[in-house]
Amino acid sequence: MKIQDKILELKKKKNAIILVHNYQIGEVQDIADLLGDSLDLSRKAQSTTADIIVFCGVHFMAEIAKILSPERMVLLPDVNAGCPLADMADPEELAKLKASHPNAVVVAYVNTSAQIKAQADICCTSANAINVINQIEEGKEIIFVPDQWLGAYAAKKTGRKLILWPGFCPTHMKIIPEVIDKKRKEHPEACVILHPECREDSLALADEIFGTGGMLNYVKKSSKREFIIGTETGIIYRLKKENPEKEFYPAQDMAICPNMKLTTLEKVLWSLEEEAYKIQVSKEIAQRASVAIEKMLAIK
Ligand code: SF4
Repeated sequence: MKIQDKILELKKKKNAIILVHNYQIGEVQDIADLLGDSLDLSRKAQSTTADIIVFCGVHFMAEIAKILSPERMVLLPDVNAGCPLADMADPEELAKLKASHPNAVVVAYVNTSAQIKAQADICCTSANAINVINQIEEGKEIIFVPDQWLGAYAAKKTGRKLILWPGFCPTHMKIIPEVIDKKRKEHPEACVILHPECREDSLALADEIFGTGGMLNYVKKSSKREFIIGTETGIIYRLKKENPEKEFYPAQDMAICPNMKLTTLEKVLWSLEEEAYKIQVSKEIAQRASVAIEKMLAIK
């Protein structure tokens, strides 16, 4: 019996659903019940009747699923699949920063731990960061945590001054202007699409800037044939599958997130068999974090 069939059989028996992030390896993407970005997946999982959610992504994503579906069992197939960007925001340090800016509104990117979300006033994604900031009362101080580049991009677009946390995604940091220039020379007809987690000097070279959901939509509708993609390279598998007539080139061949690549089919099967690793979020933290998430959803 193929491993994919074993997963399918066990998934049915246990009434489980498999959520897969766009950056996962191709064969894991292929067994997805739902494929997408972190927040979108967790929202869609809320409306299913599954008892178990297996989240093929990284820890903060599985936490969001648990916060939005507290009554369900949420499993992460590899307990080491973390997010260095999310880990750069320390709850105690954030508490200190808040204390020195007592009237500031705290905006937390969804790439944060539940403890950080619990301290935030509102969450945001890479797709709605500009909208979220625009709805904050003029003149209010705003702390943006943890991604300095997404924050700088949102500040530029909104004209607001943000207090930026000095975090960054190590994978997107590899997408530097030099590699973008090189790819453009190799593929002069291609449209350059970058993720807003890229550095400011790289974003200045983009034709378009989108989060992963926006990239997928844009490429589908575009009449262009070639695209240079500036984000984690795993998304190219999905882009190619959904747009077989178009060509995709990674802006940076080394933009590979090691954490996103930890999940394999073997680990997914094991996770379902052993019902591990179970994600737990304390009731108090989940309740506070869900307020920040729901506030964001209300203004989307
Ligand atoms: Fe975190 Fe960056 Fe990896 Fe995404 S690609 S999980 S933001 S380290």
